Amino acid sequence: MSQVASQVRQSISLLILNADVVCFDDADRVERRGAIAVDGNTIIWIGSAEEAATLYTAEQTIDASSMIAMPGFIDCHVHTAQQFLHGKLPSVRRKGELRAPMWQRYLIPFESGLEPEDVYASGLAAYSAMISSGTTCFLEAGGPFPDEMGRAANDIGIRGRIAMATVDVEDDIPPQSRMTTAEALRRSEELVLRWKEHPRVNAWLSLRQLMVNTEELRFGIRDLSHALDTPIHTHLAEGTYEVDFSIRKWNMRSTEYLESIGCLDHYVHAAHSVLLSLNEMDLYAKRNVSACHCSLNNYTMGRPRVLEMMRRGIAMGLGTDGAATRTSLDMFQVVHGAVLGQQAVNGTPYHVDPPVTCEQMLKQAFRGGARAARLEREIGTLEVGKKADIVLVSTSDYDQFPALDPVITLAESSVGRDVHTVVVDGRIVMQNRKLLTMDLEPMRERVAVQYKTIMERFDRAIA
Ligand SMILES: [Zn+2]
Repeated sequence: MSQVASQVRQSISLLILNADVVCFDDADRVERRGAIAVDGNTIIWIGSAEEAATLYTAEQTIDASSMIAMPGFIDCHVHTAQQFLHGKLPSVRRKGELRAPMWQRYLIPFESGLEPEDVYASGLAAYSAMISSGTTCFLEAGGPFPDEMGRAANDIGIRGRIAMATVDVEDDIPPQSRMTTAEALRRSEELVLRWKEHPRVNAWLSLRQLMVNTEELRFGIRDLSHALDTPIHTHLAEGTYEVDFSIRKWNMRSTEYLESIGCLDHYVHAAHSVLLSLNEMDLYAKRNVSACHCSLNNYTMGRPRVLEMMRRGIAMGLGTDGAATRTSLDMFQVVHGAVLGQQAVNGTPYHVDPPVTCEQMLKQAFRGGARAARLEREIGTLEVGKKADIVLVSTSDYDQFPALDPVITLAESSVGRDVHTVVVDGRIVMQNRKLLTMDLEPMRERVAVQYKTIMERFDRAIA
């Protein structure tokens, strides 16, 4: 009887064979020449390729020889609607005309000139760039026309949390980007409810940042976060301008102020968190605030205390901050930037070991990112029972040779363009670097026409 049973192979939806599977689980499991069995949207088994062939028959099988399987990245702070600023600000800087603060001078004016269709196209461009470099989940900071972000994420097949920008003070902000406090609250609530049931794409609340939000809105969004059980994405401790503003206005640093008014709790996701004092880091830990480190641009703003935050057990992911300021949505680069940045910030206190290794930072991006996304039970590792968000990284590029240890190859010598195949929620969305879920050509053709109009609007706004 048992012999008969062993010959009956279970039929499943997807089988990935022959990959070196790097799980990033508690045991740091690595399965050389391994296999991952997926049924529906869930990982149901991880083991050797040899054994898998005796256990499963699958609708789709991927031969992942010479590849590494890893969890998908979670970009914990991205601005979907700023994708078409890609390369623009560096060119303004090159002319010696860049002014501060960037969010006020450029980013909000740019968003103010967008139409809903622009945000949809921007979403397709951003999410395809993410998928092609191994990101399977994103946390949107908050921008215009969030339903269009959601529509693009739905169509392309990525996992994400969209959000609407909220600005309810005048302060030199274009009228298209402003709303009344009541309107911001109503529209935020409606957005969260509209996307509540979607299997991959939900909406979070958002507070843009201290300077452009009233206290009334902070209280309102906090109350909504409790009532709807939904996190709040915000920028916090980002630049010296914010610290100055907070100290002048409330005689406290930003985080201390939020604590003093009862607006700092486990629903807050604080992007950047660059200029935290020791007391503010303690408040993050005490209140279970999550954070995002955007290494490619945070070091222009201060000395981020990433290692100290990691030691305090703060739920911290890594993020790109979108394509406007540093152009790349490649999370491998963010990991490498964080390692070098922390080495510069912390010095070299040991003879042989760096303060943090690429492997540790990569793990932080997966595990810390999943915690920051409030999705640690579902993603962030390759484990049985978790959602099948799986990235296959090729190891056959010239600069990866010889790829002897899959963990080192992944952490030290792989970049986004080595990503070969991507599975989100059990569905193959990219294979052999070809996006399978949709044809992006119509979007690109439309953008080629529309881009000039978008940039003319932008140039007028910043003149
Ligand atoms: Zn941001």
